[in-house]
Amino acid sequence: MVKAIVGANWGDEGKGKITDLLAEQSDVVIRFQGGANAGHTIINRYGRFALHTLPSGVFYPHIVNVIGNGTALDIAKLVDELEQVEAQGVPSPKLMVSDRAQLLMPYHVLQDAYEEERLGGKAFGSTKSGIAPFYSDKYAKTGIQLCDLFAEDLLWERLTAAVELKNVLFTHLYHKPALAAEPLMDQLLTLRERIRPYVGDTVTFVHQALAERKHILLEGQLGSMKDPDLGIFPMTTSSHTVAGYGCVGACVPPTSIKEVLCVTKAYSSCVGSQTEPFVSEVTGPEGDELRRRGGDQGEFGATTGRPRRVGWFDAVASQYGCMVQGATQAALTCLDVLGYLEEIPVCTGYEIDGTVTASFPTTPALLRAKPVFTLLPGWQCDIRGCTDYDALPIHAKSYVDFLEQCIHTPITMVSTGPRREDITYRKPKL
Ligand code: GDP
Repeated sequence: MVKAIVGANWGDEGKGKITDLLAEQSDVVIRFQGGANAGHTIINRYGRFALHTLPSGVFYPHIVNVIGNGTALDIAKLVDELEQVEAQGVPSPKLMVSDRAQLLMPYHVLQDAYEEERLGGKAFGSTKSGIAPFYSDKYAKTGIQLCDLFAEDLLWERLTAAVELKNVLFTHLYHKPALAAEPLMDQLLTLRERIRPYVGDTVTFVHQALAERKHILLEGQLGSMKDPDLGIFPMTTSSHTVAGYGCVGACVPPTSIKEVLCVTKAYSSCVGSQTEPFVSEVTGPEGDELRRRGGDQGEFGATTGRPRRVGWFDAVASQYGCMVQGATQAALTCLDVLGYLEEIPVCTGYEIDGTVTASFPTTPALLRAKPVFTLLPGWQCDIRGCTDYDALPIHAKSYVDFLEQCIHTPITMVSTGPRREDITYRKPKL
């Protein structure tokens, strides 16, 4: 059976921590979308890790970690990260990379940077890791699959065709130097040797694992708001962040996904450009304080180091975020962060053109939305590291009850700190 762990919001909800925690009872952990453009922070007995491409199951020797066909594969980054994890004392993880995964090429990274430069002030705040050009090429059918590395004639044909197209764009639109195919080919053949031990037919492997009743975790990157169809388009990422895409990106049958665990944070944070709609944002000194206290080392991007924008819990976005994921349960993270507040605002509605709604709108209306807050009492004490839900202060529990009602999803886990063991299990009231 398959369980998906996905984000209800803008990403950075703490999915890595929850995956690391739940991976113990799993046999396979699969990354099914995205690339090295975001990171999961994991703190366990081996230390603190910011994983960008590796699945969060790498800390358990019994788990097979799969890079699914739906991901944007940056071979150098993946193998470097694997070596880094091993250098930090983690026993060599089992890793399998889909032979159908497509390669994130150096020209994707260049194109991303050139395009951001061209857009200037209207840029989307891309992480410049090449994700948008990568997925554009995949759907334009000019991408290169990992399996192509093992068919050199075909690889050369595909590479030269792709480079020809890029050079038109690079020289005419961006006024940058043209690329030569030969050095790229050499680079690919070198990378092929680094990835060779891990390449496999993950489609057959996953189906065999299911036939053997193995437990599979799908690990999502980013969250519902960043899905190109269902999120805040165009300020989204370029791969689907919803659990449903796991059926394609990890090739698990739709009927096999029995649980969708949506991770949501007790307040909001978002990376990306300042132009991105972020209705419940808190700015000024109040925002600075929340950012400083957030996460395990403040709210700064795990991949980019960029300061994240922060806000109060957005019940409108989170309810929608859980709905589009098809959440069967939710994990609430970072509850401990809010312990300093006397009163905690929760965004329970959006006022759009004078009307208050609790339905998450499309982007043009979202850009006009103003937050409507409900104030809840704070608990004003430190709950970090608490492992017994019942022992939490009454106002902390009533805050969780309130959020559960708002998001229409049973909250089964409440995280009280960044470490693997900082977790409480809760009996949902829904
Ligand atoms: P992901 O991409 O969804 O895995 O999230 P990130 O790793 O980018 O961001 C989540 C941040 O919150 C990281 O710094 C985690 O270490 C931290 N974190 C996760 N759960 C908790 C929690 O319950 N409390 C606190 N204080 N930090 C947490």
